[in-house]
Parts: sequence; structure tokens; C-alpha cells
Amino acid sequence: MAKTKQARMFDIAVVGGGPSGRIAALRFAKSGFSTALVATNGGMPDGRTTALWQKSISLLEEIGVWPQIRENAAQLRKMRMIDDTGRLIRAPEVIFDSAELELEEFGFNMLNSNLNAVLEEHCATAKNITLVDSTVTKVDFLPQSAVLHAETGEVIEARLVVAADGRNSLVRKAADIDVRHWSYPQAALVLNLEHSLPHHGISTEFHTPTGPFTLVPLPGRQSSLVCVESVDGAERLLEMKDALIEMELERRAHSILGSFKLVSQVQSFPLSGLSATRLVGDRVALIGESAHVFPPIGAQGLNLSLRDIADLDKVLSRAAARQQDVGGQDVLKSYEANRKSDVRTRTQAVDLLNRSLLTGLLPVQLARGAGMYLAGKVGPFRRLLMREGMAPGSGFTLSR
Ligand SMILES: Cc1cc2nc3c(=O)[nH]c(=O)nc-3n(C[C@H](O)[C@H](O)[C@H](O)COP(=O)(O)OP(=O)(O)OC[C@H]3O[C@@H](n4cnc5c(N)ncnc54)[C@H](O)[C@@H]3O)c2cc1C
Repeated sequence: MAKTKQARMFDIAVVGGGPSGRIAALRFAKSGFSTALVATNGGMPDGRTTALWQKSISLLEEIGVWPQIRENAAQLRKMRMIDDTGRLIRAPEVIFDSAELELEEFGFNMLNSNLNAVLEEHCATAKNITLVDSTVTKVDFLPQSAVLHAETGEVIEARLVVAADGRNSLVRKAADIDVRHWSYPQAALVLNLEHSLPHHGISTEFHTPTGPFTLVPLPGRQSSLVCVESVDGAERLLEMKDALIEMELERRAHSILGSFKLVSQVQSFPLSGLSATRLVGDRVALIGESAHVFPPIGAQGLNLSLRDIADLDKVLSRAAARQQDVGGQDVLKSYEANRKSDVRTRTQAVDLLNRSLLTGLLPVQLARGAGMYLAGKVGPFRRLLMREGMAPGSGFTLSR
């Protein structure tokens, strides 16, 4: 049992060393808050990739990490959606082109291992960040502060605790914030591929009866794949030898990128969702997967988390400028009010798209087909969808 040390006082203590926690700590430190980050370095290797949209890239630029991440990230210039359900009513193919919004790209796709390594490096040297290489085992919420107890025996006191400790958040439980859980009868197989044909910066999403099958560009002739399958179907794919799974995936991709070669392990993630009933409590704010989890469809999860961080930083900076308590209830309520609708609409949109593929109901197929038809044929509607896909509200405020 580690010995308890004397508490150190901070403006903000961030708990969790995933991308949300590290980006939040860098953002708060940059805004001038004394920040403690309780996180273990060099966690489990993460073979996934993450696609981040323009607004998220801007946040990475603001905190000074983007040039290093950009070196190993691939541009996403176009997004192609193909109805591969084989059903009676099939939607026409739709291509979203960033040039239509006068953008060079919608965003970038990157290896999580690269993203995490750059974030770790910057957190270790950032002014205003004190890194506590440990996990939090207990939190006490006091009227004027919160006190974190780390496994190493360190004690950290802060005006505000930011929970970025993932879907099983200990901080969320300590704050007595309930969650709603749900699951889907599917799993996402995730892997990276080398292919014989170039991707030209085009991400392609096939809508299949078991869920989306999405190829997302990586640098060179490589792409990441998220293949949403039934639980049994995912198990069958996982049991296949490399040569067989490569052929099967090429068949499902209709050979649009030529032949495939696996360049990573195949990982499987059960599809589930989680939503916290509140985003704040006494001296605590939730961000990232401690607040919301949904299936890896449409590259929305971390993008949503980065909008949590940007909004929280804005609210806290405004409070600090007015010499208000950054952990005070009024300040936290304002964060929650700003975030609620974005979190709800993203969670519902991902859920709806996934369920609309699973159901064979004709009215649902018709509605999905009509939506894709309009997206393909009607320019203003398509541009609105493109903007809304990247950030909430921008489709309405920026329309040309
Ligand atoms: C297959 C897949 C593909 C995805 N693709 C995309 C994509 O393309 N674009 C996108 O925007 N999103 C994507 N997502 C979602 C994205 O990966 C998540 O939103 C993101 O990883 C969540 O990060 P986080 O930091 O909130 O949580 P986590 O990554 O879960 O980090 C939580 C951290 O807290 C630590 N922790 C836990 N308990 C404690 C404690 N008591 N004390 C200290 N630390 C603790 C954990 O060790 C962990 O490091 C994808 C998700 C999946 C599953």
C-alpha cells in the first residue's frame, strides 16, 4: 500500500490518458490553467485509426501538436457511399467532395499509435501540466475542491476534475452520475490493409445488410477498414487465415482498391453505446467516452469529444476572465447546456444509420434511399449534409 503524500493544488485535474484526456490537458494548459494530468504512459498498443474532421484538426493546431501528427496522416478528400444491401429498394451511390465546400480535404485519417505518441510527448514537456503517472483510485468531492487519490499515494486537489477516464469512468461513478447502456447484435472488425491500387484520398463506405464496411485512406497505398458484421459473421472472419480473409475482404470491397494484404492484426469490438444522464456534477465535468460512447460509424466519437474539450475550455476561460470559480455550478451548468444537443443528435444519428441498415422494413429502406437520392442530386442538401457531418450547426450557418 503506497504512502499518502501531501495534496498539491491545481485549477484543473484531468483523469485519463486517452486522446480526450491528453488533448484536454494540453488545451487547458495553453489557456493558462494549472493542470494536473493523472494518466499512465505507454498504455496498451492501439492498432486502430482515427479520422478527424477540420474542426478537430484546428484544435490540434491550437495546442501545437498538428505538424508532427500531419507527417503520418492521410488526407480525406472525398467520401463515397455505396448501397450494397442487395435489397429491393437500393439507394443510388453518393459522392461527397470536399472541393464542393472549397476545402482541400474534409479531414485526415491517422494511426492511433501515432496520435497517442505525439500527445504523450507534448504532455510530458508542456508548461502548466503536472503529469502524475498513475491511476486514480478514489475521489472526494468537497465544497471548494475535489481531492483525487492516486494509486502511487499522491494526492491531487483541484477546483475542477475533468473525467476523461473512458466508458467505465471511476470519476463518473464517484460523482454518482448514472448512465444508460445499450448494445447492438453486431461487432466491428478493425484492421489495416495494403492495396494494389491507389485510394486517391477517397473514403468508401459500403452499406451492407450487417452494417457499414468502410475503407479509410492511410498514407501510401494503405487503408484502414472498419467492417461491421453480425456477431457470428465477425467470428467467422476472425477464424480465417490471412490469405483467406484478404480475399474475402477484397470480394466485399468489389476490388475497388485491387488486391489486399493485411498489415495489422484483426481486432474485434462489440457494438454498444453509453450515454451519461448528466455531463456535470459537483466539481466535475465529463468529456469523451466517460460521457458518450457509440458505434464506430461515420467517424464521430473522438470528433465529438474534441468539441466537448473546445466548449469546456471556452466556458472555463470565460469564467477565469471574470474571476469566477472554474468548478462552480453556474460555470459547469453552462458547459452542460452547450453540449447536450450535440451529444444527443450525434448519438441518435449513428444509431439511426446503423438500425436503418439492419432492418428489412420497406418504409425504412424507402426513407434511406430517398435521403441518399436527395444527397446525390440536390447540391444545397448535399453541402448541408457534408458540413453537418463535420460539425454541428455549420451546415446551417455557412450555407452558400
Ligand atoms: C474501431 C473504432 C474506430 C473508431 N474510429 C474513430 C474515428 O475514425 N473517428 C473518431 O472521431 N472516433 C473514432 N472512434 C472513437 C474513438 O476511438 C473514441 O472516441 C476515443 O478513443 C475515446 O477516447 P477517450 O480518451 O475518451 O477514452 P479512452 O481512449 O477509453 O481513454 C480513457 C483512458 O482513461 C484511462 N483510465 C481509466 N480509468 C482510469 C483511472 N481510474 N485513473 C486514470 N486513468 C484511467 C484508461 O487507461 C484510458 O487510457 C473509434 C472507435 C472504435 C472502437
